[in-house]
Amino acid sequence: MIQELVCTRCGRKFDPNQIQTVCTSCAGTLFATYDLERVKSKISKDSLKERLATMWRYREVLPVNDERNIVTLGEGYTPILKAEKLGERIKLRSLLVKDDGIIPTCTFKARGQSATISKAKELGIVRLH
Ligand SMILES: [Zn+2]
Repeated sequence: MIQELVCTRCGRKFDPNQIQTVCTSCAGTLFATYDLERVKSKISKDSLKERLATMWRYREVLPVNDERNIVTLGEGYTPILKAEKLGERIKLRSLLVKDDGIIPTCTFKARGQSATISKAKELGIVRLH
């Protein structure tokens, strides 16, 4: 659950449960902040293992307050693969590649879209451009 939205330019704070775009004072980007101590007290490594293998397993640090608003095709939790031959060719001892090709839309952008559409649903937004 987002604690607040904070402007990266001027530091002004905004309510994350209201529709926001950019800072109304300076047009700066708004970053979400989370109460990580509270999150730490609510979840553990073991409890995470029991959840579905999607990005929403980390819902405490995603923007949606009510799980019923989550819109997802199962994005996230893609494998990390060793790319030894490519690593040798570009002289890296250990090269790992995250395979987002198995996400239903075949792009890492699906994670952001799932979060965006879910939060829009939660805020009552019914049309996006
Ligand atoms: Zn600002």
